[in-house]
Order: sequence, then C-alpha cells, then structure tokens
Amino acid sequence: MAKEQRCIICGKETRGLEVREDYVIGAIRWFKRNVTHNEKGYGLVVCKDCYVKYRKARDSYTKKQVSYTIIGIVFAILLVAFGRSLGSVFAGAVIILFMYLLSLLSYMPAVNMPPRPARSPSKQAAASSAEGARKS
Ligand SMILES: [Zn+2]
Repeated sequence: MAKEQRCIICGKETRGLEVREDYVIGAIRWFKRNVTHNEKGYGLVVCKDCYVKYRKARDSYTKKQVSYTIIGIVFAILLVAFGRSLGSVFAGAVIILFMYLLSLLSYMPAVNMPPRPARSPSKQAAASSAEGARKS
C-alpha cells in the first residue's frame, strides 16, 4: 500500500513534489515518535496549487538562515576579539547556535525537483568554464 501523501502547505491529501527528508524533518519525526507519540507517517509533498506559496516561504527561509548565521558569526567574532577568553569563545558558539535555531522558526524543507535535462548541463558547463578561466 502506498503511503498517504499530504501537502505541507494546505494539509490536503494530494500528490505533488516530494519533500526531501533532512535532519530537521528527521528530528521532528523522532520527536513525534518518542515524545508526543503522534507520528502519522505521511509522505510529505508540496502540491501544485501551493507551489508558488511554498517557493516564497522556502526563499525567505534560506535567506533568513544565511543572514542569521552571518549575524551570529559576526557577533561571535566580536565577542572573541574583545573577550579573549575561553568563556567568550563558548558564548560566541552559543550565539551562532542560537541565531541558527532562530532561523529554523521559519523552517521550510527542500523538495525533490523533477529533473530538467535541458537547462542544468549548460549551467554546469558555464560554471566549469568559469572555473577553468579562474585557474589559468
Ligand atoms: Zn497544497
């Protein structure tokens, strides 16, 4: 029997792009299985109707994650530079971790995109030729 699939945006039982399982989803599943005991075991997808909405949420999440982590690192560097002690290194690590966890509040998982053979090879070729130019 196929696993029931649910859209992570609208919550409807439907078909769509499969959500890629990552450590956050793994942690949520672990939590539901071992702590709250309400694991549903749904296959997570993003349906066609919700894709635009999903894309926006995903973009804002990835942007937030990058900027929050950078802010955390900047604070940590300042802290270590002025503190110059083991305690300030520890506090710096805590700040980075805290900022990272803060970005997870708007967590939106990645989806497995259907392969598009027409586009990606040319992109790759461009990237590798740029790399070659840099090397020479
Ligand atoms: Zn949906």
